Parts: sequence; structure tokens; C-alpha cells
Amino acid sequence: MPADGIGASLAKNRPLDHIPRLYEGEKVDAHAHIGEFGGWANVACSEDELLRSMKLYNVKRSVVFYWDNELVRRAVAKHPKRLVGCVWPDPRRTDASALVRKALTEWGFKGVKLHPLIHAFLPNDDVVHPIMEEARKAGVPVLIHSGHPPFSLPWSIGELAENFRDVKVVMLHMGHGHGIYIKSALDVAKRFDNVYLETSGMPMHTKVKEAVEMLGDERVVYGSDIPFHDPSVEIGRVCASGLSQDRLERVFYTNATELLRL
Ligand SMILES: [Zn+2]
Repeated sequence: MPADGIGASLAKNRPLDHIPRLYEGEKVDAHAHIGEFGGWANVACSEDELLRSMKLYNVKRSVVFYWDNELVRRAVAKHPKRLVGCVWPDPRRTDASALVRKALTEWGFKGVKLHPLIHAFLPNDDVVHPIMEEARKAGVPVLIHSGHPPFSLPWSIGELAENFRDVKVVMLHMGHGHGIYIKSALDVAKRFDNVYLETSGMPMHTKVKEAVEMLGDERVVYGSDIPFHDPSVEIGRVCASGLSQDRLERVFYTNATELLRL
């Protein structure tokens, strides 16, 4: 292939004269954790470390979840202007709906997080439906881990979104590390306008721009997934996508602010 042919195809992804710099405006991180994740992951983030990292990267508010919901409740109560709580239930437990209701009505939590892989359920399983009803009643989004078979594939999340068209479903990681899952995350979101995509851990900068162009300005949100991923890398990838400053502002700040009604 001639050199200019290669140049032209790279420019399709982002202009070659554009050296991406970290977006320095205010941000909302739609996916953050405090607590310890042992085992294979072997990562942890304390409340203080999260707040320090937020200062460093100009993150105004972080949406936080951990399977110890009490830990999150205490942290959010201490820093109500900086931390936004999402409740993380195991849907197979009989007290899951009661926990979700309590968190949304009494603790001031702003959303629900589900991890089908960790808790071993399909997104559209019957056990999830009462939780979706609680989210619908409270008018909050449901954030779902995506990208790992057999439980958290985009198509399965699409089945849930189709059943609950009036509940906003955020596909965390927008398909994660597998090209076919990333592509299908975009396809599912195109089909159902209640599906949002979150950027953390997804390796292709080109797909961030592609998603915004395909879905419109409002349905892609930035997340770091700290401590699994580092904000510098996660912010860098979104910046490298070649989105305009206006669109970066939407992905980094406005979309999550509107979605979570912050
Ligand atoms: Zn996470």
C-alpha cells in the first residue's frame, strides 16, 4: 500500500496532527470503587485515595459501588458532594429488592449496579426483574458489567433493556476487551435508546468516537473503573478518540450529570 494510503486510513481514526492531551475540564466518573478486590484482581482503593485521584484529574463527582454496600453508604454520607452511591445487590438473594429500595429511598443512592459474572445470573433472568421495577419506581439507571461470557454479553443485556424500555441501562465497559463484543455493544445501544455505554477498560479509542457518532451526543459516559484501571489511561483513551471539545465535555461531564440527575 502506498504511504499516503496508510496515512489516509489512520486519519480516518483521528487527525494525525492532533496530539491528544488529557481533557482538563471538570469530570464525572460514572464508574469507581472503594474497597479491596483480592483474588486474581489484587487491587484496592481507599476512600482517601479515590478523593486524591479525583483532585488530580479534576473529577467533581464519582459514582461509587462495592459489594459491601455499608462501606459505600458511610463514604457517601461523609462526602455527599463528591461521591454518588450506587447499590450493588446479588439478585439471587431474597432480600435483594428490599436492599435496593432502602438504598434508593433512604440512603439517597442514585442508581443500581449489577455484575452478572460475579453473581452468576443472566441479565434478563426473572430474579433481576423486581430490581428493575425498583429502579423504574425511583427513576434511576441500572449499570451492568459487560464483556465476559457466559453471563455478561451485550446481547443478553439488550434483552433486559428491551423488557424495560423505560429504565436506563448503562452497559459498563461497552463490551470490554473483545472486538466483537464492543461492536455488539454499539449495535445493541443503537437498537434500544434506553441503553447507554460507559468507556472504562475498553481498549479501542476509535470506538468511543464511533459510539458517539452512532448514538448521538447523549449516551456515552466516561468511567475509570478505578482501581482496576487508571484514570490517566482511561481519560487518555477518550481524548485520543478525536472527539471535539464540545463532545468531550458531554462524555466527561454532562451526560453522566443528566443520566444520574446529579
Ligand atoms: Zn468496576
